Amino acid sequence: MDSWLRARMHELNDLNSVINLASWDREVYLPSKAATARAQQLATVQSLHHERLVDPRLGEALARAGEGGPDAQALTPDERAMVRVLTRERDRAVRLPARLVTALAEAQGEGLTAWREARSTRRFERFQPALEKLLALRREQADAQGHDGERYDALLEGFEPGMRVKRLTPVLTALRDALIPMVATLGGLKRPFPAFLSGRTYDTAQQWQFTMRLLKAVGFDLEAGRQDVSIHPFTNSVHAQDVRLTTRLDATWPPAALFGTLHEAGHGLYEQGFSEEHHRTPLASVPSMGLHESQSRLWENLVGRGRAFWVSHFPALKDAFPQALADVDLDGFHAGINHVVPSLIRVEADEVTYNLHIALRYELELAMLRDELPVSELPSAWNERMRRYLGITPPDDTQGVLQDIHWAWGELGYFPTYSLGNLYAASLYAAANRALPSLEADLARGDTSSLLGWLRTNLHSHGFRLPAEERVRAITGEGLTDKDFLAYLRGKYGALYGIKL
Ligand SMILES: [Zn+2]
Repeated sequence: MDSWLRARMHELNDLNSVINLASWDREVYLPSKAATARAQQLATVQSLHHERLVDPRLGEALARAGEGGPDAQALTPDERAMVRVLTRERDRAVRLPARLVTALAEAQGEGLTAWREARSTRRFERFQPALEKLLALRREQADAQGHDGERYDALLEGFEPGMRVKRLTPVLTALRDALIPMVATLGGLKRPFPAFLSGRTYDTAQQWQFTMRLLKAVGFDLEAGRQDVSIHPFTNSVHAQDVRLTTRLDATWPPAALFGTLHEAGHGLYEQGFSEEHHRTPLASVPSMGLHESQSRLWENLVGRGRAFWVSHFPALKDAFPQALADVDLDGFHAGINHVVPSLIRVEADEVTYNLHIALRYELELAMLRDELPVSELPSAWNERMRRYLGITPPDDTQGVLQDIHWAWGELGYFPTYSLGNLYAASLYAAANRALPSLEADLARGDTSSLLGWLRTNLHSHGFRLPAEERVRAITGEGLTDKDFLAYLRGKYGALYGIKL
């Protein structure tokens, strides 16, 4: 590849790293008086990044190196993939008029303010006009970026490149219809809520120590990353050798720290696993948010809520919290961390009910963007689906339609990536079990290296060589499917609850 083009790739990558570092710091350590200064700094670096990205000279170099261009023949397959990924990113940026970018940023600010006020006064109507404005701008954005008659596709493309509504809807609908009776059956058993998670105190310093132990156990490289504390846990990758995670410590709810850390570690392991030859290039990135989420969910749920993992870690957990866990054994702990109950809040949902929260949001945002659902009817449409899918009704909109921040700043197209993550995670984990017959025994010995090695070879090290579904198909032999996820739920919860699901 031409050294000028390679240098531009490095430059764009470095600017992004600086943006990520400054954003991470804003969420974790920024002194409150520095908020305005940091917003200005970020805006400056972001506009530099944008200028460099839309630079016509970069467009020309990419056209020469792209498919059918005069320089394409001389490129290696990886270099061709780099050109493809950067061209796609650049095209989306170029098609977005500067006026629309500014209007969106303003409407997002207004949306967040209105959403906060609507939450504090418990009145959805306060948020309604802001959401209507955001929807109108998102329709404009979709039309500017291009689509085949389905505006949602253009927004989805920002998070899940290559995925389309006509591919996604049948999968999420079938998943929804399989989950509704399963949730009704499990919820109907009315198992008591685990006592060890009902108000007992877990020292937060001990919790922190234990999350550090978990990071080491799963193979997160603490010389190429770190963990801190924040209210909403997240992962922010500055570079494959500088991956920042956060976790949350709650004295009466240790799952926040335990599974929050495992979740973010899953994201972090993916970022740390990129090939060295891809560093500072467009290939050192994850093909989609859904595939990113597959790694967090795999470590949080498939591994972290599995019995085998706790065979090796439960004794240490009991040592760390001898009083709170005095009357709890391994099986009681395993059942407790897998308690299924229909609940109002998405982020607190268990892995059986979780995807119903997503189906509801996906259906509603798709209908709003298509102009099939007036925003004024959103709360009633929300509550009606909560009743139908989960059998419960929110007492007010803060525990219903106003609970997530996504729509507050007009983010549409993101929600389905959570379900894609759950589905991809189950399919990848099933493939790992086929490839590694001793996997469960390895986990029970506290050895996660066979699983991590398999993920590194088959997924992490490839970066963005292929779109998400193609990468999954290359590994599992099948693309997006709910088959593995449903088989996993039926097997695990059938055994835990002693019934046939
Ligand atoms: Zn995540």
